[in-house]
Amino acid sequence: MHYHTIIIGAGPAGLFAAGILGKAGKKVLVLEKNSQAGKKLLVSGSGQCNFTHGGPIEEFFGRYGDHKKFIKRALTTFTNEDTVRFFEREGVSSEMRENGKIFPKSLKSGDVLNALLMMCKKHNAEIAYNQSVHQISLYDEIFTIETEAGKRYFADHIIIATGGKSFPHLGCTGDGYHLAASLGHDIVEPHPALTYVTTHERTYCPLSGISFKDAGVTLWRDNKKVVERHGSLLFTHKGLSGPVILDGTRWMSPGDKLTVNFLYPLNYEMVRDQFAKEIPQRGKEALLTYLKKYESLTRSFCETVLEHLGIPLDQTCARLSKPEREALVVELTKCTFNLSGIGGMNSAMVTAGGIALKHINPTTMESRKQKGLYCVGEVLDIDGDTGGYNLQAAFSTAYMCAKHLSK
Ligand SMILES: Cc1cc2nc3c(=O)[nH]c(=O)nc-3n(C[C@H](O)[C@H](O)[C@H](O)COP(=O)(O)OP(=O)(O)OC[C@H]3O[C@@H](n4cnc5c(N)ncnc54)[C@H](O)[C@@H]3O)c2cc1C
Repeated sequence: MHYHTIIIGAGPAGLFAAGILGKAGKKVLVLEKNSQAGKKLLVSGSGQCNFTHGGPIEEFFGRYGDHKKFIKRALTTFTNEDTVRFFEREGVSSEMRENGKIFPKSLKSGDVLNALLMMCKKHNAEIAYNQSVHQISLYDEIFTIETEAGKRYFADHIIIATGGKSFPHLGCTGDGYHLAASLGHDIVEPHPALTYVTTHERTYCPLSGISFKDAGVTLWRDNKKVVERHGSLLFTHKGLSGPVILDGTRWMSPGDKLTVNFLYPLNYEMVRDQFAKEIPQRGKEALLTYLKKYESLTRSFCETVLEHLGIPLDQTCARLSKPEREALVVELTKCTFNLSGIGGMNSAMVTAGGIALKHINPTTMESRKQKGLYCVGEVLDIDGDTGGYNLQAAFSTAYMCAKHLSK
């Protein structure tokens, strides 16, 4: 059977592209490795599916690490509002929750998946399951796609929508990288992203579960600053997590150093000056009582800090020595964590790295190396922050590609 387009992968990017192409009257087939579609979509947002984010689309641009330039066009062509409107039309109304995250009102990722599957069905986009594609070849401008089981399919165009390498038990084992590499594409080394880190320092591990609403985090490599961010931070039993860590893992490697400012937006100098001015005046007041003025600091955290610095828990402000005060300022505003590890692909919500963007036209998602070949979604060297940015990228890139192919 010969198709106008064959899409490899029935995740959100592949299904959305299939629905658009089907609607445009194109003969389209999706080949899916698993026995069902959208396994990763089903677990996304803890099964509730945070499928995009609120606010102006311009605020999305900085949410994709160093790839703002590439993704901007797709995001402005098919925006977060377009995504919300699309699902609304397909019978999935949404609601915005904490920090602007947008979910289906039902809080069921299955509803998002069903809407995509219904769209495919309505527009006669075929889906074949248990079809693991392992080879693509081209002869006379016609692509031949071969599955592991030896089945062959033919198409004028191919869309690789196989996702990344994270959560491999859900079907994403990096096959798309091999397929693209076999057709001459460079692959940027895949790296786990949106995951936790483990640290050599274990001082705060007993406080596992305690979080800071807005901590400043700076990443250092070879004593050079790599990136600086702020956001919610969580202590874990082996290190650190929370959105500010998850969003930064795309840049992190074992051996890197993090400095954490628990008093953000105050900085080292501001806290040093405040302490120098105020603490000596507090006389017999307990240092722990004085520290209460900083809302972000819980009592158990302050106690752990003092114990760690060897300062008695009943220390009065008057008796705090200058070196102790300095150590306290440093611990609260520039606390050092040396990274011993980054959560692996089994815990990473997305994969950083992937098909090199230099080979892809950002206005069509067509390969610059191979005419007729397109790449969409997470298989590309694109990874977004937590908050619905990855699914939005999947929809926006799929839209660009499918609209181009619909012409
Ligand atoms: C636990 C978890 C929670 C997440 N939560 C969110 C969230 O709340 N919001 C958000 O925006 N993002 C979230 N993400 C990320 C988001 O799910 C992905 O970025 C998104 O699913 C990528 O879509 P995709 O279509 O590109 O790839 P995928 O969803 O990975 O789909 C790729 C499909 O291709 C198939 N495939 C792979 N290889 C082959 C092959 N050789 N032949 C045939 N088929 C193949 C796979 O089986 C799969 O079905 C989460 C991810 C995880 C793991």
